[in-house]
Amino acid sequence: MTSESSSTPPELDHLEIKSGLLDQRSEILGRLSEMKKPPERGSAIGFGKRIGDGTSEAVSRITEVALANDLEVTVARIERALEKIDQGSYGICDVCDQPIAPGRLKVSPASSLCIECARRQV
Ligand SMILES: [Zn+2]
Repeated sequence: MTSESSSTPPELDHLEIKSGLLDQRSEILGRLSEMKKPPERGSAIGFGKRIGDGTSEAVSRITEVALANDLEVTVARIERALEKIDQGSYGICDVCDQPIAPGRLKVSPASSLCIECARRQV
């Protein structure tokens, strides 16, 4: 019994992870495309209105942009993880080439860094 492949740790089902990541990505992309619809009332925010109206509208717009940026970062991480699955390097840290703890991958399947390197990146 020495012919068993060692490329896939038994705890990780790459197909299952991949389909989970693809679902997550398409959900986020759906939310992003909703957010990026151009505002229906054009760009004349505040013109001819009380200041309060324009201000709250601008603020919610800024919050939305920040959220959209977060989502884009998440999509990029998911895409990187999908790439790693295809390349057979899934579960290996991008920075130090050490295996990522399976527990970490279960909690956050899009991780491409081990805990140590992820901490250093923040
Ligand atoms: Zn690392």
